Amino acid sequence: MSLRRSTAGRAAGLILLVGLGLALGAEAAVRFQPAHPPLADDTGALVEVRVDERIFTLFAALNAAGYDRQGFEEAYHPARQITRAYLAERRLPSLTRLRWRLNVAQPYSDVVWCLHFGEAPQFKRAVGGWHLPALPALLFFGLDDAVRAFYREADLGSVWAQVQPYYQAEAEALRAAAPPALQSTLDYLRLRTLPIDRIVIIPNLLDAHWSGYGPEIGGVGYVIVGPTRQPPSLDLVQHEALHSLLGPLVNADAGSVDRAQAERLQTALRPGLTGSYGTWESLLEESAVRAVGVRLTEPEWRANALLNDEAQGLGLVRPLAEALAAYEAQAGSIEDYLPQWLAVLNELDPASLGLTAPE
Ligand SMILES: [Zn+2]
Repeated sequence: MSLRRSTAGRAAGLILLVGLGLALGAEAAVRFQPAHPPLADDTGALVEVRVDERIFTLFAALNAAGYDRQGFEEAYHPARQITRAYLAERRLPSLTRLRWRLNVAQPYSDVVWCLHFGEAPQFKRAVGGWHLPALPALLFFGLDDAVRAFYREADLGSVWAQVQPYYQAEAEALRAAAPPALQSTLDYLRLRTLPIDRIVIIPNLLDAHWSGYGPEIGGVGYVIVGPTRQPPSLDLVQHEALHSLLGPLVNADAGSVDRAQAERLQTALRPGLTGSYGTWESLLEESAVRAVGVRLTEPEWRANALLNDEAQGLGLVRPLAEALAAYEAQAGSIEDYLPQWLAVLNELDPASLGLTAPE
């Protein structure tokens, strides 16, 4: 009896060990996959606008796998309508694997994963290291193969050729308007050193209107923006760039807010939050980025922007935006002002946060 039990125990232990070994192997395979950085096509400009077949491919896969988010009751962008209709007619065996691995409900992590890779349709690993600290790399094991298979099965290049003019037009508009908007963002921050080497803007027409992602990977601050009305929304471009320009500084200084106070504020805000700001750091970064966004907006739009933030449960934006008036009145850099700026949250009564009751 005891012998049988110990044999069973040993077998279970062995299975556990093998499972652990496989998981560690998968983790290492993705995390340390050899990278082949593309030859530098650097023009030396700080801001580049790129028509990007990789991101198109990722979002085509997401749409095929069930991603149907839409913003502000706008109809899907024509490029998204064409692509979805095209994919609906195809037989796509890779979809089973894609549905298993993609985060269809909240694709931020898929976007960051995708930016580790090079041009479609090869999708060679282009950036070394792992830039999604919150998630183990093994969750993405095999996703690059599945995306390559999807591209092949869908003959995705032919629908890409069809919709590419929409991307070119969007990129053209961004090339004209985005650099001055980003320059005014940099002028506002007065950074002594830039935390990134450059900013790459990628129009993403297969996503919801006014959606955006602003990850930083390998020295590049990405600004991935969904469709907006014409002309393109510069607030959105500034917002996503601020995640790369200001986000790391806010994170480095997050200790300026007492831990216990941070917990009180987060507890007070959590029930009203409409976005996924699971950690205090992500909530603080989003609030700081939006506060600067409010100050960059024309004064007549500021009240509206704050109400909009509060309707989404982001009650820290107003006190942070108000505290920026003192920063603007002096000449130093935001780097120097940050500890003092974030410390205003220590004085806040969580019960006083101006939050609009959800409708
Ligand atoms: Zn944001």
